[in-house]
Amino acid sequence: MNASDFDVVVIGAGPSGSATALALAARGLRVGVAERSAFPRDKVCGCTLDPRAVAALERLGLASTLAALRPVALRHVRIAARSRGATLPLRGTLAVSRTAFDAALASAAASAGAHVATGHAVLGITREGGGFVVARAGAKAWTARAVVTAAGLADASLSQPSVVDAQARIGVAATLDANSAAFARDELRMWVGADGYLGVARLEDDRVRVAAALAPAAVRGDIGAALDRVLADAGSPWRLPRGVTFRATPPLTRTRGAVAEPGLFAVGDACGYVEPFSGEGIGWALLSAELVTPAVVAALAGDARAHRDYDANWRSRVGAHRRAAERLLAWSRHPRWFAAALTAIRIAPPLARVWMPT
Ligand SMILES: Cc1cc2nc3c(=O)[nH]c(=O)nc-3n(C[C@H](O)[C@H](O)[C@H](O)COP(=O)(O)OP(=O)(O)OC[C@H]3O[C@@H](n4cnc5c(N)ncnc54)[C@H](O)[C@@H]3O)c2cc1C
Repeated sequence: MNASDFDVVVIGAGPSGSATALALAARGLRVGVAERSAFPRDKVCGCTLDPRAVAALERLGLASTLAALRPVALRHVRIAARSRGATLPLRGTLAVSRTAFDAALASAAASAGAHVATGHAVLGITREGGGFVVARAGAKAWTARAVVTAAGLADASLSQPSVVDAQARIGVAATLDANSAAFARDELRMWVGADGYLGVARLEDDRVRVAAALAPAAVRGDIGAALDRVLADAGSPWRLPRGVTFRATPPLTRTRGAVAEPGLFAVGDACGYVEPFSGEGIGWALLSAELVTPAVVAALAGDARAHRDYDANWRSRVGAHRRAAERLLAWSRHPRWFAAALTAIRIAPPLARVWMPT
């Protein structure tokens, strides 16, 4: 299928899609990126970059792109549950709006040679003539020799759908005015309650980013009121301003049987996801982009095992981080235990390493 429009079509221009497109284009491949939203666009996220995400950006040659966004350096996280709290140091964690971050990554992919087309959703992919036809809403279909799906939680490209965890919570987020809270610029604040948890950090323009994971029943009513209940449960005097509009996600925690098939690879949240308690999703997304790049190159060169090798690699490299995040998440589901753990950490700070992966 040499007459295809692209060697590789990447579906989605979030961090995993743009990083994959950038890396593949830098290897001389013809890369098309199909993104449904017009950019810049927001994404439900806490907007923190953990040290692994920052290191991955450096390896991708994006250190100066990140610095140009003037991210906020977070020095510590203050966590509270049931009126008990602990402060843990953070080293190398940054906060930056997803509006600016994702636009910068998509633009870096375009500068590396990828053709980035925003505003047209991918409707479906079909196998044809040894390659793929990628149908797009309101735009010409693209043909490609391989496809990387980076479409996030709602991805439906792989033949086995992701399986949603029975206890999966819903993600919500909003950005508040700078004066809505009195938190310091270098601190991440988190509160854990029975219905979920909530995190707050300042963005590069000083506005306050609020992101949370809530039980589905809590999201059905007034989200602001549900978040205030989490704050009250945790013993915080701070309350959200009234009238804030929150954006929400589909259920978060989910797993996939396989993250690749012949010629078709998933990256980032499309591989499955664990709730954002430890704020590592972007790091996992960028790591999967690094892992998929040689696999796609091998598949295009005729290696029939490339998708299996990627699947195994992803499970051992990203899967290990996910298991650590799941352990932390399990504690957060029990505010009483979690509060006891915070007390233990206050007494013996090294214990934090048991719960906090970074
Ligand atoms: C409440 C919450 C808080 C979080 N906080 C953090 C945090 O602080 N730090 C952190 O590292 N991670 C955090 N995460 C996780 C992080 O947001 C994700 O892991 C990360 O965005 C995954 O990147 P991605 O590129 O795989 O997917 P996404 O960022 O979801 O990007 C997917 C892209 O695909 C596009 N798309 C979807 N369907 C189609 C289609 N059919 N056609 C074309 N395009 C399509 C979307 O428009 C989007 O641009 C949080 C998540 C939630 C829900």
